[in-house]
Amino acid sequence: MSDGKESFPYRLTEADPGESLPVEEPAALVSVPEPASAPAPARHPQAEAGIENPLRLLFWETTCLCNLECIHCRRLDTAAELAGQDLTTEEAQSFIAELPQLGSPILVLSGGEPLLRPDIFEVARFAAQQGLPVALATNGTLIDQDVARRIRESGIRRVSISLDGADAATHDAFRGMPGSFEQALTGFRRVKAEGVSVQVNCTIARHNMRQSEALYQLALSLGADALHLFMLVPVGCGVEIAAEQQVPAEKYEEILNWLYDKSREGRIQVKATCAPHYFRILHQRAKEEGVEVTRETHGMAAMTKGCLAGTGVCFVSHKGEVFPCGYLPVECGNVRRQSLKTIWRNSEVFAWLRQPELLRGKCGVCEYQKVCLGCRARAYAATGDYLAEEPYCIYVPLKMRRASGCAP
Ligand code: SF4
Ligand code: SF4
Repeated sequence: MSDGKESFPYRLTEADPGESLPVEEPAALVSVPEPASAPAPARHPQAEAGIENPLRLLFWETTCLCNLECIHCRRLDTAAELAGQDLTTEEAQSFIAELPQLGSPILVLSGGEPLLRPDIFEVARFAAQQGLPVALATNGTLIDQDVARRIRESGIRRVSISLDGADAATHDAFRGMPGSFEQALTGFRRVKAEGVSVQVNCTIARHNMRQSEALYQLALSLGADALHLFMLVPVGCGVEIAAEQQVPAEKYEEILNWLYDKSREGRIQVKATCAPHYFRILHQRAKEEGVEVTRETHGMAAMTKGCLAGTGVCFVSHKGEVFPCGYLPVECGNVRRQSLKTIWRNSEVFAWLRQPELLRGKCGVCEYQKVCLGCRARAYAATGDYLAEEPYCIYVPLKMRRASGCAP
């Protein structure tokens, strides 16, 4: 990958089936280890100390090959050219074998389209044999009955299938392929028929922001185990479509409140992916309801927090680069040159991200900081500083309201 248009966005929307597994949750390539305006020492002390942080989710871009040409992703000819640099089977198995030492994370096999990788089932089986929960994030269009069977046999425990709208017209227009909606639904049913857990993923942007309820109903009718809504991150190609596609912050707030209501219905697991302030809303709403946030009242959402980039999550690109997530283009190392364990423990970028008290702007003074953290990738896209405030949150922290005399 020579520039960011080729490499980002890595598509977390098709890469987040992991967090709702029965066990517990993506510019130019810049080698910028420190935030732009960080008052940083030459070397972060925590990086030297190699402080432990259990890894909960590892997203691996198994290949950049794809069979669709979505409007926010790289071109197919570019992807085919880059695929020659995909990690080999041996390289993949080498970093996967390290994962059990880092905290028993869920391995999410993403892409591109992972089913185009010839050894995908071999690698999945290898990972499952290491005792790792394995999930597959796919566009669903390549799943015939044989593929569905092989998914099950390889030990993959959860498949996420991406829908970019609640109807064929919306989805197919975004995916760049007529018929892809129906193919995805067929793939969904085939995986489900094999007894493998399936979830629906959807990237929320302007073109589908009024379809949340219809998507929810569709997920229920399909018998999905979960519905995960991902909020578009303006990175790489996403930057170019941001102006027309990005959901306004106020609408964002409305959708997250709607999601909270759906979560309380308890009919299906619903989750906002990469919308960290959902966790602020969850705590605000629970407080209004006089309900304590516990696993019993709010499920897995009570056990996790907003942005996990670099604290519980990391991303390995198709050619081995390690990033805090697939949407934060700050390289932390490369599994072709270093062990993943060394990168995870000693990367300076990860060390910065593990200190929420260093966040700047309103996230730095926010009373919800520890459960939210704001999206570090959106902050980086907006300012070049991954510790800056989240630009798509309308909340004004109590300290700021008090300082301006707007709160007692
Ligand atoms: S920085 Fe955090 S919230 Fe933002 S895309 Fe990455 S993991 Fe998601
Ligand atoms: S101000 Fe920052 S930390 Fe507070 S809720 Fe908004 S995004 Fe989260």
